[in-house]
Formats: sequence, C-alpha cells, structure tokens
Amino acid sequence: MEIAIIAHDGKKAEMVKFLNEHKAILQQKDITLVSTGTTGEKAIKAGFEVNSQLSGPLGGDAQIAARVAEGKCDMVLFFRDPLEKHPHEPDVLMLMRLCDVHNVPLATNPATAVLLIKAI
Ligand code: PGA
Repeated sequence: MEIAIIAHDGKKAEMVKFLNEHKAILQQKDITLVSTGTTGEKAIKAGFEVNSQLSGPLGGDAQIAARVAEGKCDMVLFFRDPLEKHPHEPDVLMLMRLCDVHNVPLATNPATAVLLIKAI
C-alpha cells in the first residue's frame, strides 16, 4: 500500500508529530511512503523511509496526483494550510480532484488523517 504524505509549510511540524505518533503502522513492511520534496526531507530526518518527489511548488503535488491517476497511490494525507496562499494551488486542486475521480481516500487535515490511518 502506498501512502502519500504532503504538508504545507505551516503544517510540517504537525506532520512530523503525526508520523511519530503512528510509526508502528507507517513502518509496516507492506506500507510505502511517497511525499513532496520538503515534507519528505522532514520525514526522512525523523527516521522514515520515503520516496520523495519534487517540492510542491515545483510540481511535487502534480507528481503525486499522477500516481493517484495511475493507480499507484492508495491514500493521500495532505496537511493543508488554509490560512496561507500557495503558488501551486492549481496542482493542489488537481490532486484533490483526482483523488475524487479515482475514489482514493484523502485526508486534508490531521484529524481525518488519524481516522484514516486507524482504518488500515
Ligand atoms: P513540500 O510541498 O513538501 O515540498 O513543501 C508541499 C506543498 O506545498 O504542497
């Protein structure tokens, strides 16, 4: 199972906290993590193995959206910061749209991510 993790800058600390709190599940052998660039760096620093893509503003969200469309990615945990503007908002919308098109579970905040992770 491939799980994508993405966190906007204002939410990266919360993502690392989430990862650490769910280490036992996320480090199972049958789970692989994929991420946008900077989120991936933080996760790797926290001791996780992550397939990092480009940074979000450079196309990382679009790369993950493509993985969703291709059936490679099974779940997206996206800690969005709704109080900031993002130059790559079109890519973010595309990612969320493709999750809906392909019926891929998508969490857009930590509370939902906790519920999804408990379901696997
Ligand atoms: P980042 O991208 O992990 O490279 O910061 C996340 C985003 O802004 O979508």
